[in-house]
Amino acid sequence: MYIVMLGAPGTGKGTIGKILSQDLNLSALSTGDIFREQINKRTVLGKKIQSYIESGNLVPDDVTIETVKSRLLEDDVKDGAILDGFPRTVAQAEALRIFLKENRPQAKRVAIELDVPDDEIIRRVVNRLICTNKSCGAIYNRETKPPKQVGICDICGSELKRRKDDNEETVTKRLGIYHQNSKDLIDFYRKNNALYSIYPKELDVAVKNIKEFLEEYRRK
Ligand code: ADP
Ligand code: ZN
Repeated sequence: MYIVMLGAPGTGKGTIGKILSQDLNLSALSTGDIFREQINKRTVLGKKIQSYIESGNLVPDDVTIETVKSRLLEDDVKDGAILDGFPRTVAQAEALRIFLKENRPQAKRVAIELDVPDDEIIRRVVNRLICTNKSCGAIYNRETKPPKQVGICDICGSELKRRKDDNEETVTKRLGIYHQNSKDLIDFYRKNNALYSIYPKELDVAVKNIKEFLEEYRRK
C-alpha cells in the first residue's frame, strides 16, 4: 500500500508519517528530507534546489518527479511506502498514479489529509525544533512539547535546531502555496475514492483513527 500524506506544512505529516511507518512496517519517503540531504551534501541536485527551498517556493515539478521516481525504484519501497510531502501538485499526483500503475499495478493507493487551521500551523512551525541527528529526527515544540533540557534531544542527546525555512515569513508563503494547490490535489484523491481527512488535534487519537481507516481500506 502506498499512503500519501497530504496537508499544509506543520500539520504533522512527518510526525504522523513516521509513527505509521514504524507501526505498519513501511518505509517513509519524505521529499523535504531528500532535498535537505542533497543540500547538505552539496550535490548538483542540492545546488539546483537550495534557493527554492530556502525562500519557501516549491521545487519545480520535473526535478521533484524525477527524484521521487528514482527513489521509488529502490527495494525497500517496492511493496509500499508512506509518502510525506509528495505529491504537492496535481502534475505530481498524476505522475505518481502513472508510475504506480506501470510499476506496481497491484498496489493500493490511499491519501490521508491532515487539516489544521492556519493560525495554529504558524504557531506550530515557528516553535518547531528538530533533532540534528538524522537517524533520530525527533521533532519538538518550544511551546507544546519542549525537550527536557534546552536545545538537547531527549532521545539521543544531539543538538536541536530550527529549520532555516521555519520563520513566519516563509511559513506564510508555504501556506499560501499549499492552499493554491490543495483543492485540486484533494479533489484528485477524492475522485479516486481513497481520501481520509482528519483534524489531528491529539496525536495518539489521530494515529488510531487513521489506522482504523487504513485497516478497513485494506480489506476492501
Ligand atoms: P513542510 O511540509 O514543512 O513545508 P517539507 O520538508 O515537506 O516541509 O518541505 C520543505 C520544502 O521542500 C518545501 O517548502 C519545498 O520547497 C520543497 N519540497 C518538498 N516536497 C516538495 C514537492 N513535492 N514538490 C515541490 N517542492 C517540494
Ligand atoms: Zn535525537
